[in-house]
Amino acid sequence: VREAEEPVDESELAIEGALRPMSLAEFVGQQKVRGQMQLLLDAARIQQRPADHILLSGPPGLGKTTLAMIVAYESGRPLRLSSGPAIQHAGDLAALLSSLTPGEVLFIDEVHRMARSAEEMLYLAMEDFRIDIMVGKGAGATSIPLDLSPFTLVGATTRSGLLPNPLRDRFGFTAHLEYYEPEELERVIERSAVMLGVSVPPAARAEIARRSRGTPRIANRLLRRVRDYLVVHGRTGADIAAVDAALDLYDVDRIGLDRLDRAVLDALVRRFRGGPVGLSTLAVAVGEEPDTIESVVEPYLVRIGFMGRTPRGRIAMPEAYAHLGVPAADSVLG
Ligand code: ATP
Repeated sequence: VREAEEPVDESELAIEGALRPMSLAEFVGQQKVRGQMQLLLDAARIQQRPADHILLSGPPGLGKTTLAMIVAYESGRPLRLSSGPAIQHAGDLAALLSSLTPGEVLFIDEVHRMARSAEEMLYLAMEDFRIDIMVGKGAGATSIPLDLSPFTLVGATTRSGLLPNPLRDRFGFTAHLEYYEPEELERVIERSAVMLGVSVPPAARAEIARRSRGTPRIANRLLRRVRDYLVVHGRTGADIAAVDAALDLYDVDRIGLDRLDRAVLDALVRRFRGGPVGLSTLAVAVGEEPDTIESVVEPYLVRIGFMGRTPRGRIAMPEAYAHLGVPAADSVLG
């Protein structure tokens, strides 16, 4: 029981951290991936060696960081966190790798954004637990081999297509995380609601899940907004009206699309008359980076059948017209 005078750390990041499952058993959904990872970790434990390197791919917020933490936790090893953009020179990676303790789990988020020279160093490190450090320049340059402690690399990427094949091939196991089903998100919300101390009955849970874009991080975030609404209105339990009021305020529509999703659909349907339109043209039209459109917005719109990808560009599907209330006759498809 929390002491009344103890300050409560309410920062969003701290809460997100606290809501993270710590074991594969607590991790909701992704059943296939969970089974595969369990086998990999069990085998490593029996043979008392670090687990094979693991590549996790999929849209943001589906649990890649959480799974990396679980790998470390379940194998009783320390975890080191880094990210591709932080590794801009081979030297950055050399410093990181040479400081790892035996068996440590190294998580590199956005591994596709590492510098090319570092990527090449990583091939050798993953395969032989060794790196070559270049000393000097030009004709006098020599390379000094350096042995590393064995480690497990967990790489995460939203764009596995951008990884060079030699790097991809050195992961012993690649897991592609899929969007979650609403029932799975309901379980995530149920667990988080208990931890946040709010009562969210099944109907309200289902409504939040439906509006969470298949993504646990979004489910937890929407739950926190519903919690805020309850706090401000002096209530302890949520009903559908409370969920609607809170989520409408944050521009999350009835099927969970946010402002950017709708801006992309709107541009596609109205401005480009259903397409096909190229990614960069679409990105400029909504004032976003093409990378964000491609790795965050598009995968979900494709998954729910609102957008199609063709060799000539992106097209709007009939469901998108219906959702925006635009007659399909206005379209090239109609
Ligand atoms: P990014 O790609 O941005 O790093 P991510 O895929 O690593 O995102 P996480 O940070 O692991 O996503 O997860 C986001 C939040 O969602 C965490 O707070 C975690 O508690 C929750 N979460 C993710 N997956 C699950 C799951 N399967 N079960 C329960 N909670 C989950």
